[in-house]
Amino acid sequence: MESHRKFRYHGEYTERGYAAMHAPVLVLNASYEPINICAARRAIVLVLKGVASTEEINGFLLHSSRSSLRVPSVIRLLEYRRIPHQTRALSRKNILMRDRNTCQYCGLSLPSGEMTLDHVIPRSRGGLSTWENLVACCHECNRRKGNALPHECGMKPAKEPKPFSMHTSRHLMRMMGRSDAKWRKYLFY
Ligand SMILES: [Zn+2]
Repeated sequence: MESHRKFRYHGEYTERGYAAMHAPVLVLNASYEPINICAARRAIVLVLKGVASTEEINGFLLHSSRSSLRVPSVIRLLEYRRIPHQTRALSRKNILMRDRNTCQYCGLSLPSGEMTLDHVIPRSRGGLSTWENLVACCHECNRRKGNALPHECGMKPAKEPKPFSMHTSRHLMRMMGRSDAKWRKYLFY
């Protein structure tokens, strides 16, 4: 088996090669259900290891001394993988992603660096740091809400906070896939 390291980028522009290796690749389960997005580099490793097959290509070619390889745009795992319902770790990044960087109180969308997390039930009132009690929040609303419970200050999250679900992931995949026509048939059905 050839290691992916032996493959060189085709073409004279290394920027193109870099882009090719970091292009997002849609990962399908053996059942064709979209389950993830990874970088082309990772997808190529999976294909070379015989873990996944290339379903669609992105137009780039990689060369080694012995063969050439088309860079995938969509790959499919050869063995069905059970996906647990909650695979996402509870983290600031994932909470912001779930809430699409939108303050759940005033609806303002800001870059991640300008957002904070709000405990719906404040920690000082016994609120826990869980998917169900953390929401994306702008600093202004966070300060305004202070240590009040939602009904005390009239500030309720726009959406009931839930764990990051497959539904949310699918939404993200669709947003990313909008630019890649080859992803569409797997994502829009
Ligand atoms: Zn706000």
